[in-house]
Amino acid sequence: MNYICSGCGSSYPLESNKWKCDCGKLLNLEYEKKAIDFSETSISRNHSLWKYIDSLPFEEEDVWEDITLGEGGTPLIKLSENVYAKAEYYMPTLSFKDRGAVLLIAMAKKLGIDRVVADSSGNAGTAIAAYGARAGIQCDIFVPDSTSSKKIKQIEAHGAVIHKIPGTREDTAKAAIAMVEKTNSFYASHIYNPIFWEGTKTYVYEVFEQMNGELPDAFIIPVGNGTLLMGAYIALQELMASGQIAKMPKLLAVQAEACAPVLHAFAEGRNTVDAIKNSGTIAEGIAISAPARGTEILQAIRDSGGDIIGVSEESIMDARNELALKGIYVEITSAANYAGYLQYLEKYPELKEQKVVFPLCGAGIKSN
Ligand SMILES: *Cc1c(COP(=O)(O)O)cnc(C)c1O
Ligand SMILES: [Zn+2]
Repeated sequence: MNYICSGCGSSYPLESNKWKCDCGKLLNLEYEKKAIDFSETSISRNHSLWKYIDSLPFEEEDVWEDITLGEGGTPLIKLSENVYAKAEYYMPTLSFKDRGAVLLIAMAKKLGIDRVVADSSGNAGTAIAAYGARAGIQCDIFVPDSTSSKKIKQIEAHGAVIHKIPGTREDTAKAAIAMVEKTNSFYASHIYNPIFWEGTKTYVYEVFEQMNGELPDAFIIPVGNGTLLMGAYIALQELMASGQIAKMPKLLAVQAEACAPVLHAFAEGRNTVDAIKNSGTIAEGIAISAPARGTEILQAIRDSGGDIIGVSEESIMDARNELALKGIYVEITSAANYAGYLQYLEKYPELKEQKVVFPLCGAGIKSN
């Protein structure tokens, strides 16, 4: 198993602590995968994402057994005919980031690493801190100083060293990278480290199983750094490659209008995403003005025949209240997904007759 450069093709062993190629391009993961036997996983007594071990970069008996908190296996809630919400807030740290974080920390443990650095707008940092605590790995977590105090408390409770950085989300990333470089630490980044997507891809496997071997016509997916979107796309490619699906569902991405760099690039038909100025959004979890994996996100959306839209601040709050009145309490960022679904219905009325899944990414109590 190696990191392989998306630009020049150089490969690096995992032990190298590389998070970026020497040529400056980002790294992907290369290893041998087996197709999942869903007839077996669907009757497995393991309800966590580890039942998909055949397509994960670990062995059946491996370090993950001591690190798992039972993540995965989240419910698919039927909201109305054709519309399903996948309740990712059932996760151990209350967001979908646990899918990626458990793999990243298990890999760090396997590599014998005892200290990692990560940066996050909150939920990824929380997930890394929790699994880090479980694995006995010291974590330095960088967050913007504007991060919800509830998320910061959650991170601190796990014993991580928290670094609150003034300025933008990008300033936070820069501070984390400076520490990684200075200390030659393992960068447990959900953005740069491709092992994270190997976890988020299980989101799609679960839906496939929960829908009895079918996928919806479209997945609505929020995009900040695109870690759920990239994971979903990788899973779809795998299911296509193994012949388990014949057609890729559309990836319908959602950004906050106030911070929508991928939307702008898509609308202009570009292949790269330029940094924009975040004009301020309540959806803190997707407020990413310069996504490092922009090119890959654009490619995934286009390849699936998908689309991307921006939702207004008002529609996000309305969606949050509407979901709560249906018994579903999500963090504010997460309401953007439902707002996005409603807006897509207007843009594509035919969607009403099609099966759609959107994620409930984080729990309501995470927002102030
Ligand atoms: C992380 C996160 C997102 C967006 O995920 P990206 O990987 O940054 O695209 C959306 N909602 C919530 C609640 C999150 O924690
Ligand atoms: Zn390279």
